[in-house]
Amino acid sequence: MAEKRDYYEVLGVSKNASADELKKAYHKLARKYHPDLNKNDPTAADKFKEVNEAYSVLSDPQKKAAYDQYGHAAFQNGGAGAGGAGNPFGGGFQGFGGFGGEGMDDIFNMFFGGAGRGGAGRRADNGPRQGTDLREDMPITFEEAAFGTEKKVRLNREEECETCHGSGAAPGSMPETCPDCHGTGEIRVTQNSLFGQVVNVRSCPKCHGTGKIVTNPCKDCHGTGRVKRRRILTVKIPAGVDNGSRLRVAGEGEAGLRGGRPGDLYVYLYVKPHAFFEREGTTVACEVPINIVQATLGAEVEVPTLYGKVKVRIPEGTQPNKVLRLKGKGIVSLRNGRKGDQMVRIKVVIPTGLSDAQKEALRKFAEAEGGSINPEEKSFWNKIKGLFK
Ligand code: ZN
Repeated sequence: MAEKRDYYEVLGVSKNASADELKKAYHKLARKYHPDLNKNDPTAADKFKEVNEAYSVLSDPQKKAAYDQYGHAAFQNGGAGAGGAGNPFGGGFQGFGGFGGEGMDDIFNMFFGGAGRGGAGRRADNGPRQGTDLREDMPITFEEAAFGTEKKVRLNREEECETCHGSGAAPGSMPETCPDCHGTGEIRVTQNSLFGQVVNVRSCPKCHGTGKIVTNPCKDCHGTGRVKRRRILTVKIPAGVDNGSRLRVAGEGEAGLRGGRPGDLYVYLYVKPHAFFEREGTTVACEVPINIVQATLGAEVEVPTLYGKVKVRIPEGTQPNKVLRLKGKGIVSLRNGRKGDQMVRIKVVIPTGLSDAQKEALRKFAEAEGGSINPEEKSFWNKIKGLFK
């Protein structure tokens, strides 16, 4: 190969060129040297490849950084001595060396959006893959949500096979490199087209893109590397969770593939309604019935809270639907650990089914009142006075 030109020189830009400037320079040159437009110029195809190669490197921040530091040496991995001393990246950039036809492939994707170019993606997916997340729906009581609890979760999940440690190969054997794709997981088919050579990349059908073949499969997992296991997990539910809260239990999903990390378990909480309390955020609400005598004369009543019964003073002359606040009797906040309040709505119950003696007492009460009208009633009559002229 002739001595390679500096990539910046090829694109005619400075080392400090922005991504936009790089792109503009590249598009201009790619159009200029496109083989389809230069059928009479035999050198155009080479220049086209050179431009494309330069742009492939400089448009990729990681590769650009490597090139800026090590020059062309950063990407030498073709031919004899590949990955030997002097290449600071070992195999890190493998598959990036020989541009040739591959460069054509890149330009194709760039101009034609990669549409219709073979079914499989350009890169076979043979790297580690994270395990699937699991979801568990869990009903809990109002009190469990308020105070937190521990719950058992029954899972039936894919776990790493203990016999082969996830490799899928029987003990004493190892997965072998796929003979068809030589471990790359990809099959490349070179075709001649109008634009020159085109390389199609497909996932290797023999190894399904993994690059490895298990010739002696593990008996316990049948070569998959994973087995279904029933597990019972204890999940800690913190105080203050609410209906619809989602807990993430890291790493308790299904096992990953090819060394990938396991998925997570998500527990969705459903808080069952309470017979007495309602809740909004950290505020607990309830309704307490009192009779007209308590409302009128005042009283001390017992009100249930999440923390036991408390005595609450009902002031003299309490009207229906009056709301009393009990400080700190609500639910602890997941965010700041502070407790909300309890709101007590007073329900004044009008007595029914009175005995004769009770009715008589009430009549006496009316007489004693002497037909006097309380201030609230007065303002009511004043308001509607105008309505019936
Ligand atoms: Zn196994």
